[in-house]
Amino acid sequence: MSDKSFNCIRIDTKALQANFSIIRKIAGDRVPVMAMVKADAYGHGMVMAAGAFARAGCTVFGVAELREAVLLRQAGIAGDIFVTLGFAAEDTELLFRYALTPVIYSLEAARVLSGTATALGKEIGIHIKVDSGMSRLGILAADLSAFLEAILTLPGLRVAGIMSHFPESDNPEAESNEKGFAAFSAACSEMKNRCAGIRHIANSGAVLNFPDTWCDMVRAGISLYGYLPEGRPAPDSTKKVDLIPAMSFTTKILQVKTLPAGTGVSYGHTFRTKQPITIAVIPVGYEDGFSRLFSNRGEVLIHGRRAKVRGRVCMNMCMVEVTDVEGVRAGDEVVLLGRQQEAVITADDLAEAMGSISYEVLCLLGNNNKREYIE
Ligand SMILES: *Cc1c(COP(=O)(O)O)cnc(C)c1O
Repeated sequence: MSDKSFNCIRIDTKALQANFSIIRKIAGDRVPVMAMVKADAYGHGMVMAAGAFARAGCTVFGVAELREAVLLRQAGIAGDIFVTLGFAAEDTELLFRYALTPVIYSLEAARVLSGTATALGKEIGIHIKVDSGMSRLGILAADLSAFLEAILTLPGLRVAGIMSHFPESDNPEAESNEKGFAAFSAACSEMKNRCAGIRHIANSGAVLNFPDTWCDMVRAGISLYGYLPEGRPAPDSTKKVDLIPAMSFTTKILQVKTLPAGTGVSYGHTFRTKQPITIAVIPVGYEDGFSRLFSNRGEVLIHGRRAKVRGRVCMNMCMVEVTDVEGVRAGDEVVLLGRQQEAVITADDLAEAMGSISYEVLCLLGNNNKREYIE
């Protein structure tokens, strides 16, 4: 049996490498770039993306869960691998076996880690996550002093760094940026008074907007995949970063037919033809990450022209109108993300149509289709 699919996500590994080089050049020689490869590298394939970044000189990687970090190591990725969401007590030993760097935000986890370190006769470097205004994971400022004091009494643990996260660094106007960085700086001083360690808070938005926040390392995600965190750059934007989107998504038309006026299309008949129209049926639906939110809103490219989604997106199929596109046949290529002739659809375009952000579009499409890699 063939495992071929009509649908193909193509990842340009050269684009990934080029984007890493761009971000590294921006950050400069003094500030290392951690490549965030969580969520299967935002849909690009964690191992392949990490390999591409490594070839471009990356030596620090960030994932969400321990299992991802183990997979990276087993695939031969060297350097530091940060596990940012914690770990289950029974998996603690894996952090040592695979030389991983845990991010710590609870005393319980620190105690478990210390216990394992002692039992193994090893030491492990940890990074402490503080909450400087995101109200997500991390120790609140008020609790940091006591937390540090407790951590520093635990054998086998070495505080190697402190980190936080910006909620709105994609918006240079947002008040939370300065406030959050001030809170983080205070936390860094607190650490410095007690122990050594590096500091990192900047995500892609802060890499591009706030050089003062780069500290000792930056953590880039979306920019490495070719997109700006704030979405499409404004037409008058002076910001010049030539990031290259690395993902494209294509499929092939299954059937083409002309429907008479007054015909309902797809579930619920939410689209009804006013005059005869020609539709192409394509094998892409919400199961393939092409959200049902694209019903009657999305667009695809056929013969270099835009074709609108008509009616609801089904699980494995949807219909697009090709009345104005000449000579469309079953088997013709459809581009859902990427370039076809002179036309292009970006993840920001798709995000706009579904009321979301490029991050989600990349995860949805990339993680629900067969991927192919080109050099
Ligand atoms: C995902 C993530 C980043 C990267 O954010 P981008 O906006 O994609 O650059 C940075 N830090 C942490 C902790 C993250 O989880």
